[in-house]
Formats: sequence, structure tokens, C-alpha cells
Amino acid sequence: MTDEVIIEATEDAVQRQYVYIEKVKEITAEQTSREGRQPTYDVRVFGCQMNEHDAEKIIGMLEEMGYSKASAGEQADVIVFETCCVRENAEEKIYGHLGILKPSEGDKRSIVAVTGCMMQQPQVVEKIKKSYRHVNIVFGTHNLHLFPELLYRYMSEGRRVFDIWDAGSQVVEGTPITRTEKVKAWVNIMLGCNNFCSYCIVPHVRGRERSRNKTDILEEVKRLAQGGYKEITLLGQNVNSYGNDLGLKDAFAELLYALNAIDGIERIRFMTSHPKDLSDSLIQAMKELPKLCEHLHLPFQSGSSKVLKDMNRKYTKEQYLQLIDKVREVIPDIAFTTDIIVGFPGESEEDFQDTLDVVKRVRFDMAYTFLYSKRTGTKAAEFSNQIPEKVKKERFQRLVETQNAIGAELNLKHEGLTEEVLVEGKSRHSDAMYTGRTREYKLVNFTCDEDLTGQLARVKIIRAWPFWLEGTAEPHQ
Ligand code: SF4
Repeated sequence: MTDEVIIEATEDAVQRQYVYIEKVKEITAEQTSREGRQPTYDVRVFGCQMNEHDAEKIIGMLEEMGYSKASAGEQADVIVFETCCVRENAEEKIYGHLGILKPSEGDKRSIVAVTGCMMQQPQVVEKIKKSYRHVNIVFGTHNLHLFPELLYRYMSEGRRVFDIWDAGSQVVEGTPITRTEKVKAWVNIMLGCNNFCSYCIVPHVRGRERSRNKTDILEEVKRLAQGGYKEITLLGQNVNSYGNDLGLKDAFAELLYALNAIDGIERIRFMTSHPKDLSDSLIQAMKELPKLCEHLHLPFQSGSSKVLKDMNRKYTKEQYLQLIDKVREVIPDIAFTTDIIVGFPGESEEDFQDTLDVVKRVRFDMAYTFLYSKRTGTKAAEFSNQIPEKVKKERFQRLVETQNAIGAELNLKHEGLTEEVLVEGKSRHSDAMYTGRTREYKLVNFTCDEDLTGQLARVKIIRAWPFWLEGTAEPHQ
């Protein structure tokens, strides 16, 4: 008996999932009447927004199949891991979580499924096969939509199911989805990446760029607007190249104009933008379209042109700084956020000083800072001039201190101002406060006499904290 299950990649396979959803539903209905409780699920997500959004699809399918969310501390009937392989410590964490799940005698047995980017790496799948025998179902990023079929196969045949596709040629539409938020939603506009930055595993595990059709995106956003959603964030590894694979030119800016016209949606964001592809037409759209927020996430990764070349980023320090100036000239109040990698192979102290220089010159509102992590299968993993951990960590510390001081200073400028905040609900900090974000993506926690969740509130900022703003809502008009 083999572990492998191969399912053909046909259009029919997508439609067929609805048949499998019904089949699993019969099993869960029978379990519900037998045990007097609805079977439960627990979906654990690691990594980026793309994974968060994929998890919403897995949850959507599970709920369609008759599962409900497990309560905290309860061992769920189905546990799904949505994995990330961008950094080594993320992978180690996931192995740790999987190890904890190994059943001991007499334990209630859950069905354990693992998916996401890690599963696109053959060495990982081999390790799961051999060392994590309590994992029942393994599937990859390209066949996520087949989860009902794989789950049913496991339930009906009782043997482990492994189904990983090397590449995805399709963009799958029509997968059930349960959104985890009620006010703002993620919308995938494209999958995969063509850039092959030398440190990055994403193109190897998510495949080449595939854009969704504009009409499918517009339909999805119209449905979100009808469902009361106010903000959308368009997702793609490099949204600026949206449509290139469909033979379209300037398609991303055109898409933004069409989305801006949808009634009910108040705010539009997008991520991620590659500096080499940020077009004039996009900058113009950001200036003209009232719903596009004054916030741009523009990863620069390193301030050294030499390191950027080794990273295969296809821009120099000077070009990046010129781009920032160009955007600021058109949209003066824009907030920039970025991603930075410290300790890329061959990074000298001088190269690192260039990174600090960019941070000081641009003055980012926030930066996601990472220690370089060697990823098997990428070009940079083969570079011989790897940087010692101690040096990486010391540079990382200096970078974080520099950026945090700038972020805190920029936050201070908001004290005394009244900001438009899209209210997302109660604050995690305090039950007496609500939370939301400004158009510049600043997190605001504020007091308010009424629950304005889902609405745009005017909030007077009374205090700036290093990573958030504190305010009080002005009377609602
Ligand atoms: S643009 Fe570069 S960093 Fe971003 S996903 Fe593609 S290869 Fe990775």
C-alpha cells in the first residue's frame, strides 16, 4: 500500500470538491448525532498574509463540511497547519508544534493535516513521512482547493494522504471562504512570483506569477461591499506586475480605478510592491483615487547597492531613494513601511551603514526587520561568505534601535491631530477601548461612547506611544 494519492489537475477537480464537501458533511452529521456535539477544527497559521488568507479558505471548506471552531484548550477533531518556510526558525517552530501533537496512549485522536509553503519542499515531506507518522494528510500550496477530497480519502480509506503538486498553472475560483475579520478583507489578485530574489524561497514554493481575472476580482470585492466590508487589501507577491502574465499593460493601476468605483468600499490597500516595478501610473492612481490609502509598503531589503545586486533585487540604493522622493513629491503625507534583511552573505559594516543611511533618510513609519536566514534551494544559500550569527544579531540590534526611535518620533507628530479611523472593534489592550487604523496604517486605540465598529470615526489623538496612538473619538455626526 502506498502513501501517495495523485489527483488530476483538471477544471472538474474544482467542481468535484462540492461533491466531497457533501460526503464529509454526511460523516460529520452522523458524528454529531452519535456524540451529541458538532465536530471541531483548529487551523494554525504561520507566516504572511497570503497564508492567513489561505487559512480563511481552509476554514471556509471545513465549515461547509460541518465542522465548527474548537474552543480554546479543546483538542479539535481536525487540526490543520498552514506552514511557512521563509525563515528557519518558523520551520523549527512548526516541527515543535507537530511534535507536541504526537498522541500518547488513550489520547483522543485528531486528524492532522499539514499544508502551506513548507510542504512544497521534498525534504520536508520526507521528514514528515518518516518522523511524524501521526500526520495524516499533507498537501501543498497549489492544490489547497482539493482539501475536501483529500480529507474524504483519508476518512474513507484510513491511510495517509500525500498530494503535492510541483507547480500551479490554474487560478482557482469558487473555493468556500470564511473571513476571520468583519470590517476589512484580503483579496488575492495574483499568485506566485517571477523575481527570484536570491535569498527567497517563495518562487520555489508558490510557483510563477498567475493573475486572477479582473472580473473575478471585481465580483469578489462587490460581494464584500454588500457584506458590509469597508476596507480591502489586495494581495500578491508583487502586485505591480499584476496582469503581465495575461499580456496586459498597466493593469494594476486600471484595476485600482475600477475598484475605487465600487460603492461601500471606503479604503483600498495593497501589498507587496517591488520597487523595480512601481510605475508612474500607480503613483498617479494613488494621487487621484480617494479610496487608496496614503500608505506604501515598499521593501528595500538592503541599503547597499552591492548587496542589492547579490540579492538580485534589480535596483540600487540611489534608485530606491529617488523612487521615495518621486512618490513623496506627488503624495507628500504618505507613510512608508518597509522590509529589511540584516546579515545577507557578504554584508560588510560599510554595507550595513548604507542600510542605516536609507532608514535615516527615508524615515519609515515602520520596518519589518529580519535576520538573514539561509534557505535550502535558494542561490544565496550557496554563497560562501555567510555572516556569523553574532555579527548579524549585533547589527540587527542597532537597526531596530534606529528604526524604533524614528517610528516613535513620527508617531509624536500625530499628537493633537484628529484622524480618520476605520473602527475594527474592541481593543486587545483594554475592554474600555476600541481599535482601528488611520489611512496611514497607524494603529489607534481609543475611547468612544458608542460602538462604531465598521464605521469611519474621527479620533482626536491624545498620546503617541512608540508603536500605537491613543485617542478619544469625537461625537459621531
Ligand atoms: S519579489 Fe523577491 S522577495 Fe518577494 S516573493 Fe518574489 S522573490 Fe521573494
